[in-house]
Amino acid sequence: MYKIDKTSNQLRWVILLLAIAVVLPTVCLLWFMTQAVKNERLAVRQKLIDVYKTEIEKKFSELDSKLEIQARYSETLLQNRPLPDLWLEFIHPGSSIEPYRADGLILYDPNGSCIYPTHLHTYQDNSEFQNDFDEAWQCEFAKHQLKEALDRYKDIENNSDDPVNKKQAIIAQARIHNKMDKIDEAIHLAGKAKETGHGDKGQIAYLRADAQLMYTELVHQKASKENQYIPKFTAALRNLLSTISNYNTGSGVLLDIPSEQRIFLANKAMSLYEQSKGILTESLNSRVERVRKLQAAESLSLQIAEKFPTTLPFKNWSDRTLNKLPQTNIYAAIYRIDGKTAIRLTKQDNIILAFAGDLTYTDKKGNIFSSNLDCQILDAQGAHIYGIKGTTAKPFLKTEISKFLPDWTIELYFKDANVFENAASKQAAIYTWTGVLVVLLILGSGAMATQVIGKQIKLNRLKNDFIATVTHELKTPLSSMRVLVDTLLEGNYNDQQQATEYLQLISKENLRLSRLIDNFLTFSRMERNKQAFDIVRTDPAEIAKAAAEAVQTKFNEKNCKFTVTIADNLASIMADKDAMVTVLVNLLDNAYKYSYDDKQIQLRVFGEEDFICFSVKDNGIGMTHRQMKKIFDRFYQADSSLSRQAEGAGLGLSIVKFIVDAHKGSVIVDSQPDKGSTFTVTLPRATRRKIRAEETSS
Ligand code: ADP
Repeated sequence: MYKIDKTSNQLRWVILLLAIAVVLPTVCLLWFMTQAVKNERLAVRQKLIDVYKTEIEKKFSELDSKLEIQARYSETLLQNRPLPDLWLEFIHPGSSIEPYRADGLILYDPNGSCIYPTHLHTYQDNSEFQNDFDEAWQCEFAKHQLKEALDRYKDIENNSDDPVNKKQAIIAQARIHNKMDKIDEAIHLAGKAKETGHGDKGQIAYLRADAQLMYTELVHQKASKENQYIPKFTAALRNLLSTISNYNTGSGVLLDIPSEQRIFLANKAMSLYEQSKGILTESLNSRVERVRKLQAAESLSLQIAEKFPTTLPFKNWSDRTLNKLPQTNIYAAIYRIDGKTAIRLTKQDNIILAFAGDLTYTDKKGNIFSSNLDCQILDAQGAHIYGIKGTTAKPFLKTEISKFLPDWTIELYFKDANVFENAASKQAAIYTWTGVLVVLLILGSGAMATQVIGKQIKLNRLKNDFIATVTHELKTPLSSMRVLVDTLLEGNYNDQQQATEYLQLISKENLRLSRLIDNFLTFSRMERNKQAFDIVRTDPAEIAKAAAEAVQTKFNEKNCKFTVTIADNLASIMADKDAMVTVLVNLLDNAYKYSYDDKQIQLRVFGEEDFICFSVKDNGIGMTHRQMKKIFDRFYQADSSLSRQAEGAGLGLSIVKFIVDAHKGSVIVDSQPDKGSTFTVTLPRATRRKIRAEETSS
C-alpha cells in the first residue's frame, strides 16, 4: 500500500507541475491573444478614423479656400467696380470663379443706406403739364371719353419739350388706341415710346421699359393672329428680356428700373414666354433662365432689404463670415470696402449643397463618404441642419466645418456599426488561430510529457518492486534450505529416513527456487521485450503431461487430489512447448497455493471448435469480481499483506497472460470466493497451411 501511495504521490506532483507548465503559458498566451485582438481593433479604429479625418479635413480646407477665394473675389469687385455694376457679378457671375452663386445681394452706399434693391421711386410731379395729364386721365378712366382723352394726350406730346412728358403721353395714346381696338396704331405708338432717347436715366428708363412691355404684348396679340408678326414679337420679347437683365447703362450708372418694377416686368415677360414658347423664331431659353434667376434673387434681396434699410444692424458683424438672419434660413456675409457695403445672401440649402455635394466624392477604393458614412450638420445652436436626424449612435468624428461658417459642426457616423469589428476581424482571426494552434501544441506536448513521465515512473516502480520481490522471494527458500543443510551437517536427525525427508525438503525448496528464478527471468526478458518464443507445431497433450509431471511431487500429498484429463485425438497447436508448460505450471501452482487443506485440482485439455483449451480448476479460496479484473496485472496480489501464507511475487499470472498473448490465445478466469476458480487458456488450432509451412521449413 505504501509503495503505491508513494508512486501515486510522485505522479500527482509530476502531473501538477506539468499542469502548471501547460496551464501557465496557455493562460498567458490567451491573455496576450485577447490583448492583441483588442489592440488590433483599437489600431484599426484609429487608422480608419485617421483616414476619414484626413479626408474630411482636406475637403473642408478645400471648402475654406473656396470661400476665401469667394470673399476675396467679392471684395475685389467691391473695391474696383461702381456699386450698381456689382449686382450681376454676384447673382450671375460671368467669371469662371464661381464657388457658389449668391442667392441675393444688398448694396449700401457709404452713408449706409440701401441703394439696391430699391422700391418704386416717387417721381416729382411735373407741374407744367400735371393738370393736363390729370384731365386726360379723368377723360380716359372716369368718363370713358377715349377720343377726348386721346386728343388731350396728343396735345401734351406736341406741346411739351420734356422727354418724360412726351414719353408718358405717347404711352397713354398707345393704351387708348389699344382700348379702341386700333392695334396697329397702338403698336406704332408703343414702338415709338420704347425707342432709346438721350440719357435714359431715372424715369425715362422706367417708362421705356413700360413701353417695351406694352409693345411686346401688343405684338404678341397681333402675332397670335397673323404669322408675319411672329419674328417681330420674338425680337420684342428678346429685347424686353435684355432690358430686364440689364442693370446698368454701360456707363457705370444703374439702369433706373426699381426692383419692384423689374420683378413685375420679369413675371410678365416669363408668362409671355410660357404662352408663346411654340411659335418663337429663335430660342430665348437661356435669356429666360437668366431672368428667372435674377428675378428670384431680386425678390429675396428686396424682401431682406426691407428689413435692413441701413447697415446699422450689421455694425458688429465680422467681415466674410456667414451669419444667419433671424427667422429665416438665409445666411448673410458682409463685405466692407472703402465705405461701400455689400451683403451677400445665401440660402442655407445652397451652402450645404456647396460642400455636402463635396462629401460624396469618390476615392480610389470607392465612394467612401456616401457608401460608408452618414453625416449630420448642426448649426451654432446645435440644431439639425442637414443629414441624418435623431440618431442615437455616437459619432466617430465631430469637427467644425469652416471658419466662414461659425460654429457649424459636422458629425460623422459609420453606416455599419461593426465597421471596426469587420476591419479588425481578419487580423483577429489570424491571432486567434495562431493562439489556438499554440495552445493545442502546448496541451499536446504536455499530454505527451505526462505520458512519458508516467511511464518512466511506472518503470521505476516496477524495477524497485522487482528487486524487493526477488530479494524477498529468494530469501525464504534459501534460508529454509540453509536450516535443513545445517541440521543435516550437524547430524541432528534420528535416522536415515528423516535425513532423506530433509533432503527431499531441500530438493523441493530447490525446485521452488528454480521455478521462481525461471519466472523472474521470463518476466525480466518479457519486460525488456527480449522473450523469444520458439513456436512450433506441438501436441497439447505433451504440454499438459510435462506440466503435470513438474508439479507431480508437490501435488503428491494426501490432502491433494490432482486429476489430469486429456481428450483424445487433440489437434496440434502452434506453440512454444516450454513457455506453455510454464503457463500451466503457474496456473497449477496457484491452484495449489490458493486452496485449503483439502485440495482438488483438475487439469483438463480439450478441443473446442478451432481451439484447444487448457483448464485448471481448483476448489480453493476463489476471488471476488474486482480481484479477477486485476490478477493479470504485474505484482498484483489479492492479499498483499506480508503475513500472507502463499509465496509468490504477483508475477505468475502476468507471465501467463504475456505468453498466451504471444500465442494469440486468451486466458479467462471464472471464480467465486470460497468455491474455487477455473482458469482457461484457449489457443487456436494449427491450421493446415501453418502445418504445411511448418513441415516445409523443418
Ligand atoms: P502470486 O505470486 O501472488 O501467486 P499471481 O500472479 O500468480 O501471483 O497471482 C496473482 C493473484 O491472483 C494472487 O496473489 C491471488 O490473490 C490470485 N489468484 C491467482 N490464482 C488464484 C486461484 N487459483 N485462486 C484464488 N486466487 C488466485
